[in-house]
Amino acid sequence: MIIVTKKGVTQDQVGHIRERIESLGLRTHMSRGESRTVIGCLGDESLLEHVPLLSIPGVEAVHQVLKPYKLASREFSPEPTEVTLGDTAIGGNDLVVIAGPCSVEPGDMLSSTARHIRAAGARALRGGAFKPRSSPYSFQGMAEDGLKMLTDVRSETGLPIVTEVMDTRQVDLVASYADVLQIGARNMQNFSLLTEVGRLRRPVLLKRGMSATLEDLLLAAEYVMSQGNSDVILCERGIRTFTTETRNTFDLAAIPVLKRETHLPVIADPSHAGGRRHLVAPLSYAAIAAGADGLIVEVHPDPETATSDGDQSLDFAEFDAFMDGLRPFVVAVKRGLAARA
Ligand code: PEP
Ligand code: MN
Repeated sequence: MIIVTKKGVTQDQVGHIRERIESLGLRTHMSRGESRTVIGCLGDESLLEHVPLLSIPGVEAVHQVLKPYKLASREFSPEPTEVTLGDTAIGGNDLVVIAGPCSVEPGDMLSSTARHIRAAGARALRGGAFKPRSSPYSFQGMAEDGLKMLTDVRSETGLPIVTEVMDTRQVDLVASYADVLQIGARNMQNFSLLTEVGRLRRPVLLKRGMSATLEDLLLAAEYVMSQGNSDVILCERGIRTFTTETRNTFDLAAIPVLKRETHLPVIADPSHAGGRRHLVAPLSYAAIAAGADGLIVEVHPDPETATSDGDQSLDFAEFDAFMDGLRPFVVAVKRGLAARA
């Protein structure tokens, strides 16, 4: 850690800063300039983690040299982590497509969607039984009945299921059904929830919060990992900006930045990023080119009647065309994609 003093700092103040750092068990390295002093702090920086250094008289700025996340960092594990999902893995050479409706709905929609996406080359089924809706008056999901439908469809198709858990009180229930626990954008910094899923040995799909920095996202992953669960998949799903033409703003650069910073797999959600079905394919092409390990895409047999997110859901024919359209991009980055059945 490096401390930069204010212009015109006094010798007494510099002496005090130095004493304070050394009293906490670190060594200091002083570099005196014309009007400022730069103080390098050497040793275990975690000892300074909770010290309000900016409040020491004469301190202008504090620069962190080490990353605040450890288990999630590339330095900790230079090899990429592969997270197992049924009989496939995310984070290896194959691009993995997860697809399905936004919400689980009554009827045979889920089963027909699962059969269709599997035939087109998707490797896992998504579907929310507990839905985080911006309005309390919107459809809130089918809860445990929805989870039961998901596991029935898993038995029928063999597809592993990805479904959201919204609350610490539901973690055991959702984990008793799901193969992958999704933590949604609105809950990315629900630290109790992150801690709770960290105690499980079940993969977690962690979506980036709408106004979260990439450091925030990696620290959220660190919460899960620090409890012993290292199977975390990160998901870029767009952030809030001033743009109104798209539902969110897809942060394409997040993908290569995350791939450099962490060994965890990184996937993209073009459906929630764009919010319109015509944006799903182009955002996916860009995500593949940027190094994404997978995609999570909303599909519904009749988007017009979907209980949530119909505007961004692909119908079956669109999903088939979408999967075919991905292939040249997958080949260009020398990766694989499951064949059409
Ligand atoms: C979803 O996947 O349907 C969802 C609610 O996503 P997000 O948390 O990214 O908004
Ligand atoms: Mn949705």
